[in-house]
Amino acid sequence: MPGLEIKQISRSFGPTRAVQDVSFQVAPGEIVAVLGPSGCGKSTVLAIVAGLLAPDSGEVSWDGQSLVNTPAYRRDFGLMFQDFVLFPHRNVFENVAFGLQMDGLPPEEIRQRVSEALELVGLPGFERRDVNTLSGGEQQRIALARSLAPRPRLLMLDEPLGALDRALRERLVEDLRLILRRMRQTALYVTHDQEEAFVLADRVVLMNAGRVEQLGSPAELYNHPATEFVARFLGLDNLLSGQRGCDAAGCWVETALGRWPAPPGSPGAVTVLLRPDAVQLDSTGECSLSGTVNEVVFKGRSTRLELEADGTSLHFEFPSRAELPAVGEPVCLRFSATEALQIFEASFKDG
Ligand code: ADP
Repeated sequence: MPGLEIKQISRSFGPTRAVQDVSFQVAPGEIVAVLGPSGCGKSTVLAIVAGLLAPDSGEVSWDGQSLVNTPAYRRDFGLMFQDFVLFPHRNVFENVAFGLQMDGLPPEEIRQRVSEALELVGLPGFERRDVNTLSGGEQQRIALARSLAPRPRLLMLDEPLGALDRALRERLVEDLRLILRRMRQTALYVTHDQEEAFVLADRVVLMNAGRVEQLGSPAELYNHPATEFVARFLGLDNLLSGQRGCDAAGCWVETALGRWPAPPGSPGAVTVLLRPDAVQLDSTGECSLSGTVNEVVFKGRSTRLELEADGTSLHFEFPSRAELPAVGEPVCLRFSATEALQIFEASFKDG
């Protein structure tokens, strides 16, 4: 298997098992995001791939060749992280050229590569600029140009946009996506931000407490979260505890809010996910679920309705152009159980 291969790596710090049995691959030209809450082990995975930290067990290889004995500086991997530091006393050219000079490239090639890298990040001709006169976004692009100029076979990015404000982050993440794709740059992107991971990555490795919780494309994770943790992390948090029962005619789930058809499975305690985007407001006919509107949050394209149903709060998203009920009004929701419900075997504890 060509590209980066991570096989069952584990690493502890004293009693803390920071990373346990993590495996995944990054194919050439692929962007893989390692996503998860703070402390789940993302940076430890990255440090092991970079060669800055040794795993207790497991292996990292490139194009089938183990990197165990390859020191960080010989892996030909680039790194860009949040607290990137541009050299304040050097201009843009000197900043971007830094790695190339360290590699001992001839001056003409350095000039050409710097110019290419600046072109790529949308700042052509910025060579002579003093880095202190650049905006935050421009500095970030220069940092990216500096990581790209040596043409690393793998670019590792550790929360590279973490320090920027939201609007700038949203714009840069789109730019980053275009730049990395245009270059077919193989990349490993670490973030705790789901939207960032979804925009950028071909595949996402979602981690929880040192382990891989789910690995797949953004759409696979969102449409088929493998566990309750994944569902919650992706904001799919209309979760109800229930019981699955089955008879000759089929299976159902019984919850405090209703009884709905369910896919076959072993009877007993389950958790039911009610997808926020798969219900209709419809007062004709029988309601799948009824409740009262607690809050209406206008978000532009969509509007979020917070409902109270029998003591449980639930939220749903509707297109803002739809006619929506106001706070305090009763609502009747209809949904197709196959589209709107997903059943997790283990029951969860409230709170
Ligand atoms: P993330 O990048 O997802 O925030 P980290 O990989 O930094 O997570 O950390 C995973 C776990 O390992 C955390 O519990 C963290 O406190 C612990 N950890 C990481 N590095 C060290 C270290 N050098 N010494 C002790 N504990 C560490």
